[in-house]
Amino acid sequence: MVTPTPTMVPDRLDGFDAIVVGAGPGGAAAAYRLAVLGRRVLLIDRREFPRDKCCGDGLTRSAVRLLAGMGVLDELTGAQRVDGVRIRMRGRGGRDFHYEDSDGTGYGMVVPRLELDAVLCRRAVRAGAVLWTGARATRLLGGAAGVHGVQVEYEGRRFALRAPAVVAADGASSRLAHQAGLRSPDREWTGFAARGYFTQVADLDELLEIHLPLADVTDRRVLPSYGWVFPVGDGTANVGVGLFDPAHRENVRLLYERFVAELAATDHRFRAARPAGPMTGAPLRLDFDPSRCGVPGLLLVGDAAGLVSPFTGEGISFALESGLLAADRIDTALRRAGAGPVDPAPYARQLAARQSGYFETGRYSVRRYLLAWRVLDATFDDDRPLFALCRRLALFPDGARAGVLLDPLPRPAPELARDLRRDLLAVGELLAGCVREDWPMFVRLGGVDEDLSTLSLRPAVLLLVAAAVGGREHSLRHALAAAVDLGLLAGLAVDSAREETRSAGPRPTPWGNRFAVLVADFLLARAYEFAAQGGGPVVAEFAEALTVACEGRALELRDDPSSAGGPVLAGRAAIAFELPCRLGGRLGGARVPVVNALAAYGREVGAAYALGEQLRELAGASRWGGSAQPGAATRDDPRVAGLLGLVAEHAQRAREALRVVPAGPARELLARLAAPGLPGPVDPEGRVMSVT
Ligand SMILES: Cc1cc2nc3c(=O)[nH]c(=O)nc-3n(C[C@H](O)[C@H](O)[C@H](O)COP(=O)(O)OP(=O)(O)OC[C@H]3O[C@@H](n4cnc5c(N)ncnc54)[C@H](O)[C@@H]3O)c2cc1C
Repeated sequence: MVTPTPTMVPDRLDGFDAIVVGAGPGGAAAAYRLAVLGRRVLLIDRREFPRDKCCGDGLTRSAVRLLAGMGVLDELTGAQRVDGVRIRMRGRGGRDFHYEDSDGTGYGMVVPRLELDAVLCRRAVRAGAVLWTGARATRLLGGAAGVHGVQVEYEGRRFALRAPAVVAADGASSRLAHQAGLRSPDREWTGFAARGYFTQVADLDELLEIHLPLADVTDRRVLPSYGWVFPVGDGTANVGVGLFDPAHRENVRLLYERFVAELAATDHRFRAARPAGPMTGAPLRLDFDPSRCGVPGLLLVGDAAGLVSPFTGEGISFALESGLLAADRIDTALRRAGAGPVDPAPYARQLAARQSGYFETGRYSVRRYLLAWRVLDATFDDDRPLFALCRRLALFPDGARAGVLLDPLPRPAPELARDLRRDLLAVGELLAGCVREDWPMFVRLGGVDEDLSTLSLRPAVLLLVAAAVGGREHSLRHALAAAVDLGLLAGLAVDSAREETRSAGPRPTPWGNRFAVLVADFLLARAYEFAAQGGGPVVAEFAEALTVACEGRALELRDDPSSAGGPVLAGRAAIAFELPCRLGGRLGGARVPVVNALAAYGREVGAAYALGEQLRELAGASRWGGSAQPGAATRDDPRVAGLLGLVAEHAQRAREALRVVPAGPARELLARLAAPGLPGPVDPEGRVMSVT
C-alpha cells in the first residue's frame, strides 16, 4: 500500500549536512544512507509522491540485493519475483539464464515505479531524512569551483538552501549537472526508451525477457536497440523498447509500435492482450565519465551521472549503488574536514573502479555496435569460454565477477582476508588500467567486492595466497598476479578460436574466431608486459608454462582418449594453478622445498579442477554461462564415478604436497581448495551441479 506524502515547507531550512535533489532511487538511497549515518539531510523532489516514472520496472539481482540492504523488500507488496533473464536474439531463438545463488538471494523483481519510488522515499524519511515534495531545484549556489547549496522554488517562492554537500539525483536531464558544467559535450551517448503496460497477457514466465536487437522500419538494418517484456503480475506486462542511436531517436515510437505489433502477430501470449494506458518515453543517458561525476560540494548519482547500461537499459541498481556510495563519501568527508564543500574525487574513483569497464564497454559497443552485435549474434548459441564470458559481462554485469574465473573461494581467515583484499584491489587497478582502453569489457574481471563476498578462485588469488606462505611482501606480487590472471584469460580466448562448422551456402564471416584471436593476442601481450617486470627468469617461466599449456591443448584437440591424462591435465593446470603457486611461493620468500611443494600442489589441484570441469560437462553444465539442469548426471553413472575417483586422488596428492608447507591461514585456505568434494562440480549428495 503506497501512501502519499504530505507537502509542506520543512520546519527548518538550515543546518543540513546534505541536500539531495531528486527522490528517485538514486536520491532516496543517498538520503536514506545519510540519515542512517546520523546526518541531517533534506530530500527534495519537484513531483508529489507517489508518482509514476517511465520505466521497464525491472529490478536485477543486484538491485534486489541493494533493496534488501535498505530493508524494504517486505514493503514491496506489488512485486513480481523473477528468476533470471531470457534473451531472445533476433533470428536466433531464445536462451534462458537463471540466477543461482545458494543463499536464496539470487532473484530479481518487477515493481512498478509508482510503488518502488514511494517505498524508497518513505524508507529515507523513516531513517530520519526530511522530505520536501513539489519543490523544484532551479540552480546551484556557488558554481563549478565549489557548490554550497541550491536555490529551490516552491509555490512561487524562492528559498536559498545551504549545505556542505549537494547530491544531484535529478535524473537523465539533470539541470544541476548542466549548470555545474558536468554534462558531456559528447551528447551522442543519449539513447531513448519507450514503454507501455499490457493486460491479459497469457503464460508470462518469471523472467526478464529481452529481445536483441530490433530492426529499423525497412526491416533491412538492425539498430543498436532492444525490446523487453517484463511480467508485472496478474497477466500484466511492461513492454518497451530502447534505442541507442541518436540519429534514429525520433523513430522510437515507430520502433515501439512495430515491436508491439510483432508480439501481437507472432507471440501467442499477446493474442488477447490489451494496452493499459498510453505509451510514454524518456531519454537514457549513457555518458558516464568518472571525471564528470562531481565538483567540490556536488556529487552526481544515477541517471544524472549517466549510469545506465547501454545493453539492457538497466539503471535502477546503479542509481541505488551510486546513491549509497555518494552518501558514504559525504559522511566520511564531513567527519574529516567539518564544514566546506565535499571533494568528489574519492567518490569518482570508487565509481570508476566499480563501473567504468562495464559502461565503457557499452559506449564502445554503441559506437562500434556492428562489431559488438555481430560477435554477440555469431556466438549467441556458443558456450565457448570467451563468448560465454563476454556475453555474461555485457548482458549480466551483476554477479559477473563471482565465479567468472574458476569457482567461488571459501572465506579466508580474517588476517589473510585483510591482506588479500588490499592486494586484489591493487591487482584490479593494474588489470583495469591495461585493458580499459582497448577491451574494456574485461575491466570487471579483476574487480573484487570490498568485503570479498564474491571472491573467486583465480590465478592472482593463488599467487597471493602462496606468497603469504613465506610471509614476505614483495613489491612485484601485484604485477605478477596481474600477469597470471591475464595469462588465463588469454588461454580462454585461445581455446575459443576453433574451426567453425561449415554451413551450406556462402560461408558466414567467422566473427567469433576473429574476435577470439584478437583478444588472445592482446591479453597475452599485456601478460608478458607484466611478467617482464620480474626479469628474464620470470618471463622464461611464464613461457615454459605457456608451452606446457599449448602442448596439453594440442593433445586435447587431437581428441585421442589415450591423451586425456597427464599432459592434458598438466597443460590445464600450468598457467592457472602451478605457475601462480610457484611464483607466489618464491616472491613470499619461502624456502626452495616449500616452493617446490607449492608448485606440486598447484599441479595436483589444477588437475583436480580440470577433471571437475569434465564432470560439469557430463552434467551438460558450463561454468561460462550455459544453462544446464542440476543433477543431470548422478554418482551412479560410471563415468561420473570414475572422474570423482580421479578428482579425489589428485586432491589427496595436493593435500600431501602441503605437508611441507608451514602451518598458517594460507596453508589452511589452500587445503580447503583441495577438498575431495570440490566446491564447484559436486554437491554434498554427490550430484553433479550446474554452475552458471
Ligand atoms: C523507458 C525506460 C525503461 C527503463 N527500464 C528500466 C528497467 O527496467 N530497469 C532498470 O533498472 N532501469 C530502467 N530504466 C532506467 C531507470 O529508469 C533509471 O536509470 C532510474 O530511474 C534512475 O534513477 P535516478 O534516481 O537516477 O533518477 P530518476 O528515477 O529519474 O529520478 C529523478 C527524480 O528527480 C526529480 N527531479 C528532476 N529534476 C528536479 C529538480 N530540478 N528539482 C527537484 N526534483 C527534480 C524527478 O521528479 C525524479 O523524481 C529505464 C528507463 C527508461 C526511460
